[in-house]
Amino acid sequence: MARRSKRQVRADLVRVVTKITRMSAADARALEQVLFDNSVIAWQTEMKQQGLKYTGQIIDVPRPGQSDLDVLRALARKDAKGIISTFNSDLKRQITNLVDSDPRVRGNRFAYRKRIRAWATKRSQWKDVSIALNTEMRTRQIAKERFWTENKLLSKSRFKFTGPTPPVCDICVRMFARGVVTIRTVRKNRVPLHPGCPHQWEVIRVIPLDLETMWVG
Ligand SMILES: [Zn+2]
Repeated sequence: MARRSKRQVRADLVRVVTKITRMSAADARALEQVLFDNSVIAWQTEMKQQGLKYTGQIIDVPRPGQSDLDVLRALARKDAKGIISTFNSDLKRQITNLVDSDPRVRGNRFAYRKRIRAWATKRSQWKDVSIALNTEMRTRQIAKERFWTENKLLSKSRFKFTGPTPPVCDICVRMFARGVVTIRTVRKNRVPLHPGCPHQWEVIRVIPLDLETMWVG
């Protein structure tokens, strides 16, 4: 078999990348829907927790109102686009590295595709978990802020950074070090503060709410 020229290998590379890119519009829509559905569940779970915290009762939480759904939808769309575009550039880098670094694979389309598939599977295993966590943490923050706002808790509440300790990244170390803060700090430092951040802002002293008048959506 004639040795494939670098140009031909590159052409193959471009073709495969293009193929995956072409799929990505549909992938982005599917991903957006998954992220959106998950965020609605995370929202309701958070509202239920806040309700329990402020009344001591397990309450039924309605589906978020239209304007809140719109916010969650827009974020899901933005995330899906970002995730797909990150994937595509990671993929391009990965393909280029593979072509340039491993002569045994060079020019062998099948070996090369097999490796890329293995890479994509491995990548999705940790990426999916990380994406799901980010969506959940961010949605919980949005839901909490809505709860605090609608129940007029913002000015009278103080907050602290909570979650697994010791924090592993500098930014979270700094947030823990801030101690008790006002909503201003919370809004300036919305979670997740970095990919995979498991931390949350919580109210430090709960002033009970009336079950009848409490807002949960
Ligand atoms: Zn963190």
